[in-house]
Amino acid sequence: ALKTGIVGLPNVGKSTLFNALVEGSQAQAANFPFCTIEPNVGTVPVPDQRLHQLSELSKSKSTVATTIEFVDIAGLVAGASKGEGLGNKFLSHIREVDAIVHVVRCFEDTNVVHVDGSVDPLRDTEVIETELALSDMAQIERRFERLKKGGKGKKAPDAGDVEAEKKILETIYSTVEQGIPARKADLEETDFEVVKGLGLLTMKPVIYAANVAEDDLMDEAASNPHAKALRKKAEDENARFVLVSAKMEEELVELSGDERQEFLEGFGIKQTGLQTLIKVAYDMLGLRTYFTSGEKETRAWTIVSGMTAPEAAGVIHTDFTKGFIRAETISYDDFVTTGSQSAAKEKGLLRSEGKEYVVQEGDVILFRFNV
Ligand code: GDP
Repeated sequence: ALKTGIVGLPNVGKSTLFNALVEGSQAQAANFPFCTIEPNVGTVPVPDQRLHQLSELSKSKSTVATTIEFVDIAGLVAGASKGEGLGNKFLSHIREVDAIVHVVRCFEDTNVVHVDGSVDPLRDTEVIETELALSDMAQIERRFERLKKGGKGKKAPDAGDVEAEKKILETIYSTVEQGIPARKADLEETDFEVVKGLGLLTMKPVIYAANVAEDDLMDEAASNPHAKALRKKAEDENARFVLVSAKMEEELVELSGDERQEFLEGFGIKQTGLQTLIKVAYDMLGLRTYFTSGEKETRAWTIVSGMTAPEAAGVIHTDFTKGFIRAETISYDDFVTTGSQSAAKEKGLLRSEGKEYVVQEGDVILFRFNV
């Protein structure tokens, strides 16, 4: 499964957010297959209004959201790349994730100590990013050494390939050295593929999460210059930006669904920053959702963008790919307007799709397969 790592300086609100993510998901859906693999790994349901709409139309007995994994990677401090403290261990945790949520303190609170004495998002992000960059540079240097020695015997790589890889690595190295993340290096998509195995930290997609006071959720531009500066940085880097209030999320976890809705309306917002964060992370990972919906159950399933119908069927059960016959498909909108699969069929809106069909976001599918 794809994972999103939560990073940031100490005391910026990472754990508060992570706990709200995990506890909130437990409170929301009693029948959701929640499991904690490690204390710092949480499986979180992806909020989706469509799921509930479909479930209601189908009068389903159960409703199951799809999920995404978050990892709380605490302990990243200046000097981590030199192996100070447990630094290297944290960096290796980041190497294993597919995307990064970088939590940045944008709230003022004299009761909460800031490791560097004041709130300053750009300085703070630089501390973390410097560590990531230094780690990437060391990683590239090690790779260079290995390429120089060359492979032995049968495994010896093609000389042309080695030269090509060296060139790509040089470009990335000089990019990172200038304080620019590897993902912004002036390279082709295929070049990035060549060095994917190195797990470079600054190549991973990033969401900057500005942790602000509750009141700042409404009018960020007017009242919080820190969040504004961070948003600008995200825009410059083609990174994503989300405004959250860890403290408010912590409080929301205690409320029931209705109370929560009321509370949010009081703030004039439709969904919490955390819900937005989950969705943005899901999207950034290139994930898409299709549905199955019937009396027994309505359920959302995660696929990677571009998957064909047999591949998508395999997400439910691997046997479904082998035995795939066809996918009886209705778009979400058609399902909702007609109200059911049979009604959609009468109107000619049910499509019988074959092996080549690329599943679209929101498709409601009934798979036909041989067992
Ligand atoms: P971490 O070290 O990044 O995991 O930070 P924590 O989540 O442990 O939070 C550090 C301290 O900051 C705790 O005392 C939190 O209650 C407090 N805190 C976290 N988020 C907020 C916030 O949005 N506003 C305020 N005022 N305090 C917060």
